[in-house]
Amino acid sequence: MSRKTIDILGVQVDSIEFEKAVDVAESLMKSEKTSMIFTPNPEIIMCAKDDGELRSILNAADLCTADGIGVVYASRIMGKPVPERVAGFDVVCALLERAAKSGTGVFLFGAKPGVAEIAKKNLEEKHPGIKIVGTHDGYFKEEDEADIVTQINESGAQLLLVCLGAPKQEKWIAKHKDELNVNLCMGVGGTLDVLAGTAKRAPKLFIRLNLEWFYRLLKQPTRIGRMMVLPKFILVVKKDKKEKAKLERKKK
Ligand code: UDP
Repeated sequence: MSRKTIDILGVQVDSIEFEKAVDVAESLMKSEKTSMIFTPNPEIIMCAKDDGELRSILNAADLCTADGIGVVYASRIMGKPVPERVAGFDVVCALLERAAKSGTGVFLFGAKPGVAEIAKKNLEEKHPGIKIVGTHDGYFKEEDEADIVTQINESGAQLLLVCLGAPKQEKWIAKHKDELNVNLCMGVGGTLDVLAGTAKRAPKLFIRLNLEWFYRLLKQPTRIGRMMVLPKFILVVKKDKKEKAKLERKKK
């Protein structure tokens, strides 16, 4: 499978359309080698800029999609625009639909106690026949991790959704990848909260106008600190672009 990726502050992000990303995710979900999908947003890329371990983990993924309009803008600034935003939540929803059809086992891992169970119930109502083979909350001690891995493996899941927030989920997946018998691990942040209905996705109009970040800010004004990373991210990307152009000129 050949990938077209672009470099954003050292993170290789796939330049791929949404539908194609779902096809790739489905084929990884069906293939026995344990794969990883991450969906970096500006916050994660900024974190990876200063965290070499996170950067290496993201760059070892089988698919890394541009989650967030900020990443799409960054790709335009770098002169290599990705075709569209590919939000982790949307990929998960499309993949779960396919998993329900093919009878693929899914394990929901993360969020506060009880949230994954509500997400399971909601998914079973929405997709009769879907196989949610296990759940575990995301608040655990390091010494519990071996038991969690055993529980996931014994469930027979092929798709594992890890929703611990970034960079915890990426690091957890990378740490346990070789012990996990699942086909595909996805690090997808607040997805279980939305599937459970404890958090809401923005209305479609906001998403279409690329204003999902604004809706989130209205709903959760305490996110302002986290969101201030967005303008900073754009500035850092512009600076990086200038430095790369300078280097190119020197080479000539
Ligand atoms: N979370 C968790 N364990 C932790 C920290 C966070 O399971 O130790 C969960 C948290 O309950 C939430 C998700 O991770 O469900 C992260 O949500 P956030 O809104 O940060 O996700 P994002 O904005 O990255 O989608």
